Amino acid sequence: MHDPASPSTQGKTLRTTQSLLQAGLISHDDQKALEAVAQRYATAIPPAFQKLITSANDPIGLQVVPSSHELEIQPHEDSDPIGDDALSPVPGIVHRYEDRALLKPLLICPLYCRFCFRREHVGPDGGLLSDEALETAFRWIEEHPQIKEIILTGGDPLMLSPRRMRHIMERLSSIAHIEIIRIHTRVPIATPERITTELLNALETDRALWLVVHTNHARELTQDVRAAVKAILCRGIPILSQSVLLRGVNDTTAALENLFRSLISMRIKPYYLHHLDSAPGTAHFHVPVEEGRALLESLRGRVSGLIWPTYVVDIPGGKGKVPLGPDYLLPLQNEPKEAQSEPQRRVRSPDGKQYPFT
Ligand code: SF4
Repeated sequence: MHDPASPSTQGKTLRTTQSLLQAGLISHDDQKALEAVAQRYATAIPPAFQKLITSANDPIGLQVVPSSHELEIQPHEDSDPIGDDALSPVPGIVHRYEDRALLKPLLICPLYCRFCFRREHVGPDGGLLSDEALETAFRWIEEHPQIKEIILTGGDPLMLSPRRMRHIMERLSSIAHIEIIRIHTRVPIATPERITTELLNALETDRALWLVVHTNHARELTQDVRAAVKAILCRGIPILSQSVLLRGVNDTTAALENLFRSLISMRIKPYYLHHLDSAPGTAHFHVPVEEGRALLESLRGRVSGLIWPTYVVDIPGGKGKVPLGPDYLLPLQNEPKEAQSEPQRRVRSPDGKQYPFT
């Protein structure tokens, strides 16, 4: 019987260069070159994404079809660009900030983004925590009462079976000091058919549950995705989005505006626009920070504050996430000493004019 919460996307996920060739996404010549990429980094293109790709170089294809550029490693690139490994007290836990921690129950994703910051770790065979390891992670959380929020990430937690997901939600909900559970996921976008009534039932909790979906282009937000999002929202689970600023995918004012407007129309609040992390072989997606700030600035005033996300970077080495602007409060102006007056503060309006501000 068809699950009313689950759209009916059918077909096979493409995982090999041979299947990419058969699907017409790469040529015979590409296949030879891309074998080396496929050996190093996982590939998965689920049916919902396959339908959207018109060529390997369109905004959807670029995100998921392997490219020979991925073997061009730059000196500054790092296999663990945001420093998860050094901040992991027990397997599956990353503790970067005082009041919150990541819990990574698996490293499997519904698709494998070619720009992923965890690309050296994620994959179809990857990192499913055993029952014992998961229990050790829960005990570590219990022993740290300063942790108020758990961010379930991975991989993608919604790739777990409903049974396993229910266990995680119940166990986290049994820890008195956990107030917020956040799930970072690409599943509602990449494999909306996984959002079943059974999976939604497994997410039941008396804590504040938030979902953060990863999406980078308005074309990803199909009718099936909208149905899956609606089913999640109907459970009273609020949804935020995070996107990565990517060359060739969403590096224009029009593409970003379209993405953020589409999200808000679905009742998803655009939350973060990430500056690309320097994972190996991702330089072809890099958009300089000055360009990123200018893009955000081009949207200011054009879209409402509800639509405008925060442009952020994870400081390499696990030093934390910070906003990159643009800034509207200008540096204090130097006044002549004899004036004996307070230096004057000035702000910039969205159209670039400056005004005094006290
Ligand atoms: S869904 Fe997230 S973790 Fe998985 S490959 Fe994409 S960016 Fe990486």
